[in-house]
Amino acid sequence: MKALCWEGVDKLAVERVPDPRIQNAHDMIVKVRYTASCGSDLHLLGGYIPAMEAGDVIGHEFMGEVVETGPDVTKHQVGDRVVVVSFIGCGTCWYCDNDLWSLCDNTNTNPGIGQGLWGYEPGGIFGYSHAMGGFMGSHAEYVRVPFADHGAFTVPEQIDDLSAVFASDGVPTGWMGAHLGGVQAGDTVAVWGAGGVGQMAARAATLLGAEQVIVIDRLPERLAMTAQHVGAETLDYSRTDVGAELRERTGGRGPDVCIEAVGQEAHTHGPEYLYDKVKQQLRLENDRPIAIREAIMSCRKGGSVFSLGVFAGLVDKFPLGALMNKGLTLRGAQQHGQRYLPMLLDRIANGEITTSHLATHVMSLDDGPRGYDMFKNKKDGCVRAVFQP
Ligand SMILES: [Zn+2]
Ligand SMILES: [Zn+2]
Repeated sequence: MKALCWEGVDKLAVERVPDPRIQNAHDMIVKVRYTASCGSDLHLLGGYIPAMEAGDVIGHEFMGEVVETGPDVTKHQVGDRVVVVSFIGCGTCWYCDNDLWSLCDNTNTNPGIGQGLWGYEPGGIFGYSHAMGGFMGSHAEYVRVPFADHGAFTVPEQIDDLSAVFASDGVPTGWMGAHLGGVQAGDTVAVWGAGGVGQMAARAATLLGAEQVIVIDRLPERLAMTAQHVGAETLDYSRTDVGAELRERTGGRGPDVCIEAVGQEAHTHGPEYLYDKVKQQLRLENDRPIAIREAIMSCRKGGSVFSLGVFAGLVDKFPLGALMNKGLTLRGAQQHGQRYLPMLLDRIANGEITTSHLATHVMSLDDGPRGYDMFKNKKDGCVRAVFQP
């Protein structure tokens, strides 16, 4: 089959790879209809995520049609239209039992790498390096879906294919950030990053009862999209001091919950950006924690900060003093989509959450390298490039 493969830093190619096969009784094979690029893929592309090998098929956000099921799959049949959660959970370990699906103890087939980096390994994810299980990704004609009864969800009739694809990763990631970030009715919530995940986190905050939601970015087209489709206030960080502006807009108090949806390749203006860029290039830090620093500094006393953007390792100048002295709660996670998907599919079906506007560029999988170039360099207002294998 055809697949989009990582061939080295900033190098992608469409290649022929072996078709996936059922390997375990709980597997199924899905023929991919849509597979979306995700901001976290850019970290793979840029070489910031360890344990990538040339020829690895990337992609983790997808939906499609079931074409084969293993004997233990009971929830799905050939022909079903499904969306599949990007993280793979076994459904039986302590973590899955406690709805912490991305921490599954059984699906990361290379636990040693994660243990070395982080003490304990997270669960497996499609198409996201050998540190995260080495699973073949979704930028391909077919994908093997392990533990299919837990990770795949039938798409309700009212939801079209293109709207459904973002229920795989962007929608549940955003929802989780607002939910586990502790958003309460009446809160003010600030979200760093107006990409797909940031927009979905902002929408989730509103649906969880936040009174004021402010989304921070620098790209005018993304800020306009956020205002139009998410209904949030926007803040252009290239024009103002974010901390001062947030203080002003919140009556001097600061946001109750700050959600960081940017991750390790954050941008800013001025000397701080240069400092982190050089440190990262010299491998003196893995990640540029610009947005998370700002979130911690801007958060109200006693508030909470949620790290949704992807980080790989060590950062410099982390404001631990602010965290401690202001009594903040800091939390992070990869997404626990299995916990939220039935509820989120209902909300997409009834129009409470809209997603299709994120698919600014839809193209054939053959155009994968071009799509990623547009996405990475934000050409032509690209928010997400979505591929049709
Ligand atoms: Zn993702
Ligand atoms: Zn598990």
